[in-house]
Amino acid sequence: MSGLINSSLRELADALATKKVSAVELATLFLNRIETLNPSLNAFVTTDREKTLAQARIADEQLKAGTGVTALTGIPLAHKDIFCTRGWRTSCGSKMLANFVSPYDANVVEKLADAGMVTLGKLNMDEFAMGSSNETSYFGPVRNPWDLSRVPGGSSGGSAAAIAARLTPAATGTDTGGSIRQPAALCGLTGLKPTYGVVSRYGMIAFASSLDQAGPMAKSAEDCALLLNAIAGFDARDSTSLERPREDYRRDLEKPLAGLKIGLPQEFFGEGMDSDVRTAVDAALAEYRKLGATTVEVQLPNSGLSVPAYYVIAPAEASSNLSRFDGVRYGYRAPEYNDLTEMYSRSRAQGFGAEVKRRILIGTYVLSHGYYDAYYLKAQKIRRLIAADFVDAFKQCDVIMGPTSPSVAFAFGAKSADPVQMYLSDIYTISTNLAGLPGMSLPCGFGANSMPVGLQIIGNWFGEAKMLNVAHQYQKATDWHKRMPEAMK
Ligand code: GLN
Repeated sequence: MSGLINSSLRELADALATKKVSAVELATLFLNRIETLNPSLNAFVTTDREKTLAQARIADEQLKAGTGVTALTGIPLAHKDIFCTRGWRTSCGSKMLANFVSPYDANVVEKLADAGMVTLGKLNMDEFAMGSSNETSYFGPVRNPWDLSRVPGGSSGGSAAAIAARLTPAATGTDTGGSIRQPAALCGLTGLKPTYGVVSRYGMIAFASSLDQAGPMAKSAEDCALLLNAIAGFDARDSTSLERPREDYRRDLEKPLAGLKIGLPQEFFGEGMDSDVRTAVDAALAEYRKLGATTVEVQLPNSGLSVPAYYVIAPAEASSNLSRFDGVRYGYRAPEYNDLTEMYSRSRAQGFGAEVKRRILIGTYVLSHGYYDAYYLKAQKIRRLIAADFVDAFKQCDVIMGPTSPSVAFAFGAKSADPVQMYLSDIYTISTNLAGLPGMSLPCGFGANSMPVGLQIIGNWFGEAKMLNVAHQYQKATDWHKRMPEAMK
């Protein structure tokens, strides 16, 4: 039974369907691993054995009766703690929400529960999803299962560490500037950020609403495709949710890659990328050529402006979104104050951490009357140029490839003293969010200190099925995605 920790979602569904294992047994297997291994990883911030087993029992009844069974019924997963989950605490990695129990489910949570999946718990993350290392969480940093002295990436670091350590077969994540892809890369996993608007943001605590997008994190592209099938779709409760015909994201998985055109942006292969990352990415590209793909150089001339534009737009939206946390309606309230204004200011001063405060200050500054044109408006114009670069690039290729992160997982404290160094961790992922494009990361080898390296695939708008096809064919030819950290066995 312990072999099941390495199984794909399809293999787990088969084991459940053929009664080799029950949903309760499967949930128990992972709950026991969480109990043993989480103290050293800090990936889970909330678990509740009774709630999990109650869901598993319902799944077992469905499996027994054969009614309402889906490809995911009875399979456990865990949610990033940014998704509202009815009856479970939803903290968003912040003291501000450390006592918040949501009265409703996020759309993503609801859809996965409707598909019969069993919730193992809630996963640690950078506070309000601001960070690239999980060091900004109120609940303390998450450790990378490949090397406990290193960060797992962020902000979905809990999701990544939990899957890498096989504490859960899959997890949800969110990606505003790279928070699904970068931790997936640093922990040796597969993660997918869909096209903006494909997955509903309802019930996902807002960071930067025009960039935020939820997506699956798992061991393989095939697993991500199954999960995306369950979470994608129109939702009237999110005004930016797109009304599109239903898609089966698995439909192209088995297509051969002969004739595939891969665009390599010059700007992603210049200085900035560590040489060990470069070696692994080059080897992956060589494998793609063996699979019948050709590579063509493309230009993304404005991509150098993506980090500065993002760090104007994302904080601007965050400063507005986070104004709702005022100590009045829910969340943290300062214990002592003399009047209403002091109650607001003390609650916010005590409830938010340093990085969140930095973003709120930058955001209110760039939106202020005197600076709006100089910063916010200019950043919006750059955003448009970045999207236009991609339109041109996709005239020459089917997908774009490059590194996900400029380096492998770094040590705790290596970048936390210098915010700009930390912000540069997302240099290859941020332009995708600014353009609203889908992107993936998949493991493509190991670099310095035997840490995993991620290959990034950027798809055209609504090109998820194509990206998944391209990733799956590589995963059929290689086994990087099957490796797990020795210490977690
Ligand atoms: N690291 C980036 C930031 O700190 C991206 C975070 C994210 O995608 N949520 O904003």
